[in-house]
Amino acid sequence: KTKELDATSKELIPSDDWFQTDSSITVTIYTKQKDIISELVIVDYQDGKLRGEIILKDYSYILNVELSYAIQEDVAVHTTGKVGKVEIILKKKDNITWKNLGQPLEGHHSFIRCTDRGFHYRKCKLISKTDVTHNTKLFCLMLPQSTHLQVPVGQHIYLKQIIAGTEIVKPYTPVSSSLIPELPNLTAHIFLMIKIYPNGLFTPELDHLQIGEYIYVSNPEGSFKKSQVQTVDDLFLLAAGTGFTPMVKLLSYALNNVCSLRIVKLMFFNKTEGDILWRNKLEELAFQDKRFDVEFILSEPEKEWTGKQGKISSSLLSEFVKRSKDDSKLLICICGPAPFTEQGIRFLQDLGYSSEDIHSFTA
Ligand code: FAD
Ligand code: NAD
Repeated sequence: KTKELDATSKELIPSDDWFQTDSSITVTIYTKQKDIISELVIVDYQDGKLRGEIILKDYSYILNVELSYAIQEDVAVHTTGKVGKVEIILKKKDNITWKNLGQPLEGHHSFIRCTDRGFHYRKCKLISKTDVTHNTKLFCLMLPQSTHLQVPVGQHIYLKQIIAGTEIVKPYTPVSSSLIPELPNLTAHIFLMIKIYPNGLFTPELDHLQIGEYIYVSNPEGSFKKSQVQTVDDLFLLAAGTGFTPMVKLLSYALNNVCSLRIVKLMFFNKTEGDILWRNKLEELAFQDKRFDVEFILSEPEKEWTGKQGKISSSLLSEFVKRSKDDSKLLICICGPAPFTEQGIRFLQDLGYSSEDIHSFTA
C-alpha cells in the first residue's frame, strides 16, 4: 500500500519492470532520482522470495515477490546513478521461459517512509572472532550470497538472537577489518567490534556463538549523512569505550575522500590502558598520516600512566577543539555512554558550537 504522500513525493514514486534472457531475469527499477549508489539498494532472496528495497531520501521503495520459478543463489545489483536506474539480476535455475515474475507479497510496490517500514533480517554466518582487548572482540559475519547490503558510514545494524525463547535485538555499528586495510574490504563481510558484558543480556550469548553458526542481521539505520563531512576542514572525534566504533569507518572515509580536510583529531576516553581499542593501529595511523592525531584520556588510570586523566570536561574540550584556521569549517562527532554524549554536547554548546557543528551517534 502506498502511504499518503504530498504532490512532490507522488511524482517521485519509482516504477519497475522485468525482462528475461534464456539464462537470466533482470528486474529494473526506475527511481526517478539521480545519484543512486549501490549502498541505497538492499536485496535479499530467501526461500523463493525476492525482496528489494531502494532508499530514496526519507522513503523506501519496496519490491516483495514470491518468484514463480527457481533461481540460483547469487544475485547481482547494478546501479546507473546518472539515470537513476537499478537492475537486480537473477540467474535462472532452469532454462525455461518465465510467464510472470511471481506473486506479490506484503508491501510489494509500496513507497513508504523509512521510519514506517520495520526491519528485515537475514541469517549471517560467523566467520571469525578475534580478541581486540580483554573484553572486546572483532566478529566477522558473512552475508548470504543472495543478499546485497552495504552499511553506510555512520550507520548501525541490529543483531537479533532468540534468548530463552524471547527475541532480543541490539544495535551495533560495523567497523572495517582494520584502520589501514591491506586488502579492499569485502562487501559480503560485516565486521563488528563488540564488548562482552559478563552480566549483560545479549553479549554473553553472542560470545558463545561458534564459528559457522548463524545470527540475524537487520538493514542499516542511522541519521549520519556523508555530506556532513564532505566539505569540512577540521574533524574532531570524541569517543568513549565502544563509542569508538562509528569513528572507524568515518576516519577512513574522511582521510581518503574529503579533499578539503586539514586535520582529524580523535579524543578517546577509556577507563584503563588495557581498555583502549586498536591503540597500536591508531598510533600507526597517526604516524603515517600527518593530518591525523589521537589522544587517550583515562578515567581510572594505573599509576604508571603519564597521559591525560579524567572524564569529558569543558576544559579538555576547549583545549582539544581548536580550528586549524579562524574560518575553517568543522564537524565534531561524539559517541559513547549516554551521559558522556549528553555532557559532551552541553559542554560544546556552552563553548559556542552550534548544532550543525555537532553530530552525536545514537540509536
Ligand atoms: P545489557 O544487558 O544491556 O547490560 C550492559 C551492562 O549494564 C552490563 O554490565 C550490565 O550488568 C549493566 N546493567 C544492565 N542493566 C542495568 C541496570 N538496571 N543497572 C545497572 N547496570 C545495569 N556496543 C558494542 O560493543 N559495539 C558497537 O559497535 C555498538 N554499537 C552501538 C550502536 C548504537 C546505535 C547503540 C545505541 C549501541 C551500540 N552498542 C555497541 C551497545 C549495544 O547495543 C548493547 O547495548 C551492548 O552490547 C550491551 O548489551 P547487553 O545486552 O550484553 O548488556
Ligand atoms: P566504559 O564504561 O568503558 O567507559 C568508557 C569511558 O566513558 C570512561 O572512561 C569515561 O571517560 C566515559 N564515561 C563512562 N560513563 C560516563 C559517565 N556517566 N559520564 C561521563 N563519562 C562517562 O564504556 P563502554 O562500556 O565501552 O560503553 C560504551 C557505550 O557507548 C555504551 O553505552 C554503548 O551503548 C555506547 N555506544 C553507542 C553507539 C551509538 O550510539 N552509535 C555506538 C557504540 C557504542
